[in-house]
Amino acid sequence: MAPIHNFNPGPAVLPLPALTRARDEFLDVAGSGMSIMEHSHRAKVYEGIHNEAIALLRELCAIPGDYEVLLLQGGASQQFAVVPMNLLDRDKSADYVVTGTWSQKALKEARCFGRPRVAATTEVDGKFYRVPSPDEIDLDPDAAYVHITTNNTIAGTQFHEFPQTSAPLVADMSSDIMSGPLDVTRFGLIYAGAQKNLGPSGVTVVIVRKDLVEAGRRDIPAFFQYRTHAADNSLSNTPPTFAIYMLRNVLSWLKEQGGLPAIAARNHEKARLLYDVLDERSDFYVCRVEKRSRSSMNVVFNLPTPELEAECISAAQQLGMVGLKGHRLVGGLRASIYNACPQESVAALADFLRSFKK
Ligand SMILES: *Cc1c(COP(=O)(O)O)cnc(C)c1O
Repeated sequence: MAPIHNFNPGPAVLPLPALTRARDEFLDVAGSGMSIMEHSHRAKVYEGIHNEAIALLRELCAIPGDYEVLLLQGGASQQFAVVPMNLLDRDKSADYVVTGTWSQKALKEARCFGRPRVAATTEVDGKFYRVPSPDEIDLDPDAAYVHITTNNTIAGTQFHEFPQTSAPLVADMSSDIMSGPLDVTRFGLIYAGAQKNLGPSGVTVVIVRKDLVEAGRRDIPAFFQYRTHAADNSLSNTPPTFAIYMLRNVLSWLKEQGGLPAIAARNHEKARLLYDVLDERSDFYVCRVEKRSRSSMNVVFNLPTPELEAECISAAQQLGMVGLKGHRLVGGLRASIYNACPQESVAALADFLRSFKK
């Protein structure tokens, strides 16, 4: 089979060593004679892997002891609801910075629980081409928290500087978590579905300050209270054992690569390869995203006509380059180049784009 260059937005490419390790251990994990999927989540073999995944998250992100690391289900979308369910009292407000489809969805869910307000939005005619600068964000000193989407997977924008807030900063980091060094202490709560940068779908990572867990509401179902999962080391019910096993494989690969500083340098270089093509003098490729808001994870661009865009996507497909169709809300093309997307794939795409233009 010809090599595939996978630019899928999520679920996305996984590191080959994490996959081959899974292949090699598929029928016999840790010398147990069984697949990881067949082990009890209460037994030693699984527990070792579960704790290793959490320990790797703690180590790679330098997560301080006053934070919980939870492995939950329901995706980032469930956290849109679970965050306000826990942290927002009915008569309280929370500040939402609206920078794209995902933050709009998070805001909508928060309206079920309290009175969220829009502290900033960069929407223009239904489109988002940038994130706000810190001084554009109108913060309410009484807000329960401030919610941001650090990388806007659909619009192709990313915060490169986080707002200073007195209220706890809550971040949906689904599409750029661990793409570079992360100062966890800037945040009250971080959540991310695994299927972009951390592993397969099915597991959601939540990093949350212990005092927020403790202060969380108690008048909601126990299963939706962060404290339930914190008290049981995320083993309150059956966790997605195979997804967490894969998370462990991806994190141990990331550690071997040199951790977050090393992956950041690689991501920066990959993004540069593509933006350089888009910036070459000519109006064939157009990246509408404001330069200081450009995402290093999702490179979104247009060609002169939808017909040329379709032709470009199908010519790329012939060369094994998949996943380049832009999100249906914005059209155009999108190259998702998460941690596991090899530099060779990005270089191949850059070469292809130059020759397609000619
Ligand atoms: C993909 C994505 C989501 C949705 O994630 P699910 O795990 O499918 O719920 C939310 N936010 C961002 C930023 C995303 O990229």
